[in-house]
Amino acid sequence: MNAKEIVSGIYVVKGKFADEFGFIASYLVVDDDEVLVIDPGTAGDPGKAILKAIKDLGLSPRKDVVGILCTHGHPDHIGGAARLHKATGAPVMIHRNDAELLRTPQLFIKERLRMDFAGRVAMKFDKSPLRVNFPGIEPDRFIEHGDTIRVGSTALTVILTGGHCSGHCVFYDATRKALFSGDEVNNFPNDPRKFYVDLTGSISAKLAAIEHLRTLDIEFLLPAHDVSHILRDVSLQFEEASNGVIQFQDFLLEHISLRGDADINQLTFDMIRARSIPVPQSNPALLPTTIQVTLKALEKAGLIRGSNDGVWHPA
Ligand SMILES: [Zn+2]
Repeated sequence: MNAKEIVSGIYVVKGKFADEFGFIASYLVVDDDEVLVIDPGTAGDPGKAILKAIKDLGLSPRKDVVGILCTHGHPDHIGGAARLHKATGAPVMIHRNDAELLRTPQLFIKERLRMDFAGRVAMKFDKSPLRVNFPGIEPDRFIEHGDTIRVGSTALTVILTGGHCSGHCVFYDATRKALFSGDEVNNFPNDPRKFYVDLTGSISAKLAAIEHLRTLDIEFLLPAHDVSHILRDVSLQFEEASNGVIQFQDFLLEHISLRGDADINQLTFDMIRARSIPVPQSNPALLPTTIQVTLKALEKAGLIRGSNDGVWHPA
């Protein structure tokens, strides 16, 4: 049995081990012999693991799967979507802002990361969980903030968070007090302060989302990476996630002020060298991408000034 029941009716299917991202987790919500798949996994393989898990539970992929729900369109979350759709016929659901990634997964590398041509070529040969080696698929349904997704008698509320990327949603099960938090509030590697965003992401949306999620009654936080469920004080988890973002912003402000001015390459160098805050390392584009999005937020807040040559100055 490769599915483990972690809360009554909620099963985790562990995907590949992905270095600093830990294990990639998919979830099954099972209610009244209906199954909903959340985050159909990386690079196709967990698509297989999910099918096996459904059969192991005595359920039929063809008859019992009512939906395939994606928190967002990154490769490690949608890799098995096409395979699962083919095997089950169930509708694939994602927010409109990430639908393009489901249709054309290569756009993640082309448009969502700060990366030059050489970096893109290198990524084609990469074995990381963010590689794209699976076909795209047309979404069957767009999910919106406030929607309800039903499986059996369970109702999940869709909350658009839009921080990690512009189409990122989380799903709240008020009955079980469980939140499927995707990559918006995660724990890789056992460090909620570590985060990254893609070029469509937003630091202010991320902070606002964390503030909102903190107000919900949550006992089970179910992120898509590393540990599959967090039962310790969930409010502490939110606090650390939010602190991580603020620490990251403060570091950039401090170093722009120390240097007098700085470009993204210099700030990336400073951040890796300082080792004072946890940074994503396994893909060389994640850190400069997250720095770029954060600088835009600081500029918008009037704390720094950008210029046409890509150099940032204190305000
Ligand atoms: Zn992601």
